[in-house]
Amino acid sequence: MLKEITVKTRSRMEMVDITSQVQEVVRESGVKEGICYLYVPHTTAGITINEGADPSVVRDINNTLRKLVPPDAGYAHLEGNADSHVKTTIVGPNTFAFVEGGRLRLGTWQSIFLCEFDGPRTRRVLVKVFSG
Ligand code: ZN
Repeated sequence: MLKEITVKTRSRMEMVDITSQVQEVVRESGVKEGICYLYVPHTTAGITINEGADPSVVRDINNTLRKLVPPDAGYAHLEGNADSHVKTTIVGPNTFAFVEGGRLRLGTWQSIFLCEFDGPRTRRVLVKVFSG
């Protein structure tokens, strides 16, 4: 079954730790061993797995993306969010984690983040847990 996590973001650019919501979907699925697949159906928000323990890592990632893809760089797309689309493509729309013993098998310091690049908005993350 396909599940949906709703995330309300609060600023234009933000990484929201959704690990506990994803863990809840895994628990509800009843799958003990398998794969949890995550997909973000948006063009200006992505998903990634990185360090959740030290919040300065998230700050560094966002500051680096801001430098790499400035908001105003003579883009062709005229909605005012061209940089958001480019950042989303760099980060990507999907990721996965293994499920072991009914829980996400992440590394000690890893968290799953929804990456907002054109907020604040209400975002959706589609989650499917496969047994195997
Ligand atoms: Zn756009």
